[in-house]
Amino acid sequence: MFPDNQLKETQLAILERLNALNESVDILVGKKRYEWSVPIAQTIMRFMVATKRSVCACCQQNPIVSGSGIKLPLARLDHFYGPSSRAITNTWMVCSPCNVKLRHDQFRVSKEYRFKCFQADMHEWMETNMVSTNDDPRQPNLFGKAA
Ligand SMILES: [Zn+2]
Repeated sequence: MFPDNQLKETQLAILERLNALNESVDILVGKKRYEWSVPIAQTIMRFMVATKRSVCACCQQNPIVSGSGIKLPLARLDHFYGPSSRAITNTWMVCSPCNVKLRHDQFRVSKEYRFKCFQADMHEWMETNMVSTNDDPRQPNLFGKAA
C-alpha cells in the first residue's frame, strides 16, 4: 500500500504525461502547431540582421526586416516541412503572403531551393560564429502565433 501523498504524486505524473501525449497527437494530426522558442526566433533574427537580409527569403521582394534590424509586420516564421517540427532546420523567415502560399504543395516545391539556400547560409553563419540555439521548447514564442 502506498501512502496517500505518493499516490497523489503518481496520479499527477500520469496526468501530466497524458496531457503531453494529447498535445503531441494534436500536433501530429494538425489540430495544433508547434510554436518556435525564443532561442530559435532570436537566432533567425540575428542571422537576418548580421547578413543584412531585409526581404522575404521566399519571394525575395517583400521587406520583412527594417534597416535598423526590426522585424516588420509582414514577417513570419514558416515551418517549411509542416507543423509537426518546429526545429530550426525546418524554419525560415518569409513574408505573410508567401507563408500562406507555402501551404500549397506546388508552390512549396517550387521554392524548396530557396529554403535550402536559406538553411545552408544560416547554418554556415551559425557555424562560423559559433551560434547555438540552445533550444528549450518550454520557452515562450517570440513571434506570437504562427500563421
Ligand atoms: Zn515572400
